[in-house]
Amino acid sequence: MAEHFPVLAVTGAASGIGAATARLAATANYRVAMLDLTAPANDALLRRNNTVFAECDVTSRESLRSALALIEETWGQGPDAVVHCAGIYQTSATEELDLELFARVQHINTTGTFLTAGVLGRSMLERGAGSLVLLSSIAFALGDEAEPGAAYAASKGAVVSMGRQLAAEWGPRGVRTNVVAPGVIDTPMTTIVDNAQAYGDLLATHPMRRLGTAEEVARVCLFLAGPGASFVNGAVIPVDGGQCIV
Ligand code: NAP
Repeated sequence: MAEHFPVLAVTGAASGIGAATARLAATANYRVAMLDLTAPANDALLRRNNTVFAECDVTSRESLRSALALIEETWGQGPDAVVHCAGIYQTSATEELDLELFARVQHINTTGTFLTAGVLGRSMLERGAGSLVLLSSIAFALGDEAEPGAAYAASKGAVVSMGRQLAAEWGPRGVRTNVVAPGVIDTPMTTIVDNAQAYGDLLATHPMRRLGTAEEVARVCLFLAGPGASFVNGAVIPVDGGQCIV
């Protein structure tokens, strides 16, 4: 009989941490549903027979439901685990009162997390088992003089609060929820590399004198998603090379 590997749904899977998580999971033989606004161009990952791409906007309930339907159609079941990486980083000085930017960041990062958890989490709850991994940021806890990121920090604080609440609500129903809080990771999202002064200051004071890689975060996401973390629920795990301790 053919062996069945777990089904993992990854949002934001076309880039950065999501792409690294999808790649790592696919090579570990998970069946991987890659959800994002647009498919990555010419990605060899999508030519494997254990991956599928679903065009999905995490701010839309309908879009998430279509992605779930595609997963069920492809593999005859919903996801065993979900790693929710989709998000945006945009900054503006709070005193500029850019309400549009503030609302956009909350919409994608906070509402997107709420909807992803609601639609894909519900599918796991119905089967009485699953694991949800949410992406916050050290910005939820650590202020940053270099960039005016109050909107982003607020959205990532919301992700932590949501994750801990869901861990309490859904733990008794078989679904674990954990939060990963990356430090500064080398992905297309990271803007500090464009500011030589701020980048130099960061490297000079960072305990590991470097940025993290997407794969270093992906490894932790995949650990939390899988059976190795069977008694880990409601945790907020920094993957920041110790940046938060200085
Ligand atoms: P990334 O490389 O920009 O990847 C994010 C992906 O999410 C992109 O493919 C993006 O598509 C997609 N996305 C944006 N809005 C979406 C939506 N409404 N629906 C579906 N997909 C959407 O970013 P990353 O660095 O991998 O970040 C992944 C997560 O880690 C984010 O939640 C981020 O806040 C968090 N994080 C990152 C860092 C870091 O230093 N990189 C640090 C702390 C936390 P488009 O490119 O088309 O917008």
